[in-house]
Amino acid sequence: METLWIRNCEVLTFDGQTPNFFPGQDILVRGNEISAIQPTSSEVPPNCRVIEADGMLAVPGMINTHAHVPMVLFRNAGPDVNGNDWFNKVIFPLEANLTPEDVYWGAMLGQAEMIAAGITYTADHYFEMDWVARAVEQAGTRANLGWAVFAHQGYAQLEETIRFVERWQGKADGRITTWLAPHSPYLCDPDFLARCAREAANLGVGNHTHAAETAEQVTLSLERYGKTPIQVLADSGLLDHPAILAHCLYPTDADLDLLAGREVGIAQAPKTYMAMALGLADLPKYLEKGLAVGLATDGAVSSCTLDLFEQMRLTALSQKNRAMDAEVLDVNTVLDLAFQGGARVVRQPKLGNLKPGNLADVVLLRQDRPAAQPVINKAANLIYSMDARDVDTVICDGKLIYQGGKHLTLDLDEIYREVNSRLPRLLKIDLSRKIADYPG
Ligand SMILES: [Zn+2]
Repeated sequence: METLWIRNCEVLTFDGQTPNFFPGQDILVRGNEISAIQPTSSEVPPNCRVIEADGMLAVPGMINTHAHVPMVLFRNAGPDVNGNDWFNKVIFPLEANLTPEDVYWGAMLGQAEMIAAGITYTADHYFEMDWVARAVEQAGTRANLGWAVFAHQGYAQLEETIRFVERWQGKADGRITTWLAPHSPYLCDPDFLARCAREAANLGVGNHTHAAETAEQVTLSLERYGKTPIQVLADSGLLDHPAILAHCLYPTDADLDLLAGREVGIAQAPKTYMAMALGLADLPKYLEKGLAVGLATDGAVSSCTLDLFEQMRLTALSQKNRAMDAEVLDVNTVLDLAFQGGARVVRQPKLGNLKPGNLADVVLLRQDRPAAQPVINKAANLIYSMDARDVDTVICDGKLIYQGGKHLTLDLDEIYREVNSRLPRLLKIDLSRKIADYPG
């Protein structure tokens, strides 16, 4: 088994929830695991592949806890549009144009973007997921894939998504896991959600859904069911098993208490919230309650990029501004949320931290741009001054997939050619062909 020897880097590692930075380290990777992190040595045994990382900062592969990756095909297709029109006049009509092959090329473009931004794991929530799984397999990354389903599509479609779970669970050398993905409590009724909860329990998987994204959704839920969206999810049994709740901006205090102590994680994508003027979650309160919170890109129609450096920075800045308190979300809390928080949300305890025995998802960041110098506070530098442009090398599952700014698993020219040749057909909007109605 070849050993990958990452030489003379600085390493970000967490002791509990506290980040530490250790300069002058070698990271040894055997198979798909980190076997050692030790002071640098000039004597490297034979049969090792050396990656010279002088001056670079090694961080864990970033974990994207909620995305609709193929939507990069529609990047910037609907700026300056509010929620109802955004869904009904932009998103649903555009998505009605997608063929499975389009989804594949969107997933390939999104994977290329995410790898270049240091993202090695994505909880993806979309359609035609066999094609997304193929893209993940080719890209060499990890993913938790859920085939989105709406109640109006019926139980037969839910069965289809169950078969997808069975087809792809553990595939790509274990890099792919599969969950169920009912869209949301506003587009899936309580009976449908209860069925998703039972099926997920039978399959031994979780559910990935949207919840309490807007104040209107909460009002609508109270009108329909006399319950908040979180209560609807809890009463359906869906929160008795692992779950990712995307956004969750408007839970009540009682909702937060309902979520505490469960295997439930909350995905946060503040760039989307600001772009669509949705408001912001009260994250300090979630963290106080011990809830798992991780970063997410959401889809590129609302967030415009699949970039967790941006989301990390915006999480910190928007929360300080929301609270009118600069002490809110200090740098250590933000780094824990950004790296280990993601691992907690997707329930992958061997990811999110660089330490022996963990899976070898490692990102090397250059620190030589003027904006990253001088280095006075390393944590603050990583959050506020460095960004995806600093990603030099990406290793996922012990394999090099990106080095020196070049993709080793994906052909960018081919991806751009395929995507651009599809655009004229994809961008035609026919308002009579909706796949769902956003009820807000
Ligand atoms: Zn979403």
